[in-house]
Amino acid sequence: MFETTIAGSLPKPAWLAETHKLWPRWKLEGDALAEAKGDATILWIKQQEDAGIDMVTDGEQSRQHFVHGFLERVEGIDFDLKVELGIRNNRYKAMVPTVVGPLRLKGRVHAAEARLARAHANGKLKFTLPGPMTIVDTIADNHYGDRTKLAMAFAEALNEEARALAADGVDMVQFDEPAFNVYMDDVKRWGIDALHRAAEGVTCRTGVHICYGYGIKANLDWKDSLGSEWRQYEEIFPALAQSRIDAVSVECIHSRVPVRLLELLAGKDVMLGVIDVASDKVETPEEVAGVIEAAMKHVPKERILPCTNCGMAPMDRGIALAKLEALGAGARLARERFG
Ligand code: ZN
Repeated sequence: MFETTIAGSLPKPAWLAETHKLWPRWKLEGDALAEAKGDATILWIKQQEDAGIDMVTDGEQSRQHFVHGFLERVEGIDFDLKVELGIRNNRYKAMVPTVVGPLRLKGRVHAAEARLARAHANGKLKFTLPGPMTIVDTIADNHYGDRTKLAMAFAEALNEEARALAADGVDMVQFDEPAFNVYMDDVKRWGIDALHRAAEGVTCRTGVHICYGYGIKANLDWKDSLGSEWRQYEEIFPALAQSRIDAVSVECIHSRVPVRLLELLAGKDVMLGVIDVASDKVETPEEVAGVIEAAMKHVPKERILPCTNCGMAPMDRGIALAKLEALGAGARLARERFG
């Protein structure tokens, strides 16, 4: 009970990449870079397991950014044709590559790190991929001319990789869809269809992560503008409850999401955000157990997986580690109390 996991990303060590950045530059090249990515992956798996995380990830140590790491292996994208785009409904600006032709996977994207992580993780392994809607929102398009068609093309590429990850022995493939909290009507119109296409025939558990973003200033300002109750989940959870996705990762601690909205996810496993990634203050086990207790009023306890609110990529490495330990300790406390 209360199997712990994390949303996905972890900070990269200073010897691997620039720290405290969303698009950090690598510190090495070629074979040395590949080796260092592997070293960081193994290190984080060990530290997650030591902290009591039951379903670990590779910490996304091998990708520069959670969206563009996947895109690098997709044909039909011109990385030299970078344009500045206002993403997440113009919440912040990013330099993004451009789709210039039909999309097709060049081959495996994450085979090396998934197999390495599988070989070293003693327990369960989750692997994250960007969701189709979030990719569409983080790229310029000169070819498809239609967000739905573009999303379906990405979903097919994602599906190829997701099936292969399951064959590599991954226990859960999670699609990251922060855009689901921004374009709620599109989620119902085509977002979940695209997600289904990405998850079709994947033989392990599937999940989707929907959050209010990393703790960067643009996101904090946006959250401030959302009023006293954040109701975005209310619009999309009923459709997600009807979907074929097994688990939903949600933001909870320190958010203004009314916890009762979790009832709308009936039948789904809930990866419950009990660790705030937008604050450097480390949670106490007591606080973590408190969030779990509050959620238990709305979600059957056997369906709760304590998790982080979002990825930890831009955080301080030491603080991220302390937060993993708080997550593990808080879930242990909850097991003693409510198990
Ligand atoms: Zn997130």
